[in-house]
Amino acid sequence: MAVDVVWKGNEYTNSSDRKGQAPLIIVNHISAGSMSSMDSWFTSPDNKVSSAHFGVSKQGTIHQYVKLERMAWAQGITADRIATAPAAIVRSKGINPNLYAVSIEHEGLDGELTEQQFVASVALHRYIQAYVADHWGYTIPFDREHVLGHFQIDPVRKASCPGAKFPWKQLYSTLSLPDKRHGGADSVEEQLKQLQTLVTDLKGRLAWLESQHQLQEVPIWAKASVDKAVAQGLVYTPTPSSLDFYRMLIVLDRKGLL
Ligand SMILES: [Zn+2]
Repeated sequence: MAVDVVWKGNEYTNSSDRKGQAPLIIVNHISAGSMSSMDSWFTSPDNKVSSAHFGVSKQGTIHQYVKLERMAWAQGITADRIATAPAAIVRSKGINPNLYAVSIEHEGLDGELTEQQFVASVALHRYIQAYVADHWGYTIPFDREHVLGHFQIDPVRKASCPGAKFPWKQLYSTLSLPDKRHGGADSVEEQLKQLQTLVTDLKGRLAWLESQHQLQEVPIWAKASVDKAVAQGLVYTPTPSSLDFYRMLIVLDRKGLL
């Protein structure tokens, strides 16, 4: 299942230069309104205050308003509050968090997501992680330091974004699972089966490689020694054997042991 991202941004959508910063965190928001009002606000010529990279509707559709290469105006805080932000990364970076954030708005009011919306949001988190890894060579970790809520950046004005009902636990645990869409094994049995196939395959290759080292005829230079060994009943079937075997017989012969 490819992630279906619909481009909705226009020339009025607010965005700025990232000033060389790579996206390091994903910040989750609740839109406190409908998807259509989100679409029209983020593309309105009257909006000079806010934007987000993505919006996820209750039906699970994903809209994009700002390219990931640009910064969206989603969680700006005044410079004096950066030092006291709950999120450690915001305090340690010490700059406008929009510069290194990717923001996701969710259609809704209190953070409760529909099943389709949750699934789409998880897929979007993975899409963002892959996109950032491709373009910046950095993999955003799916942990509590890098997948954040707006309240962890701005606890004063945005204490209830994305809302009390936002499914944090479910989000982190789902993001920690292998991505099934990319052929990840989804159970221990499945992983075991894959390993068994690999071992069988390797055994076959090993047998083939070994067979390549078996000579089907006694080399001329070893013939006299091999004949002696056969005559003495030391060797019953001189072929197929390895070069080392014939060399060993020659050594024994030269030592007068045959
Ligand atoms: Zn927010």
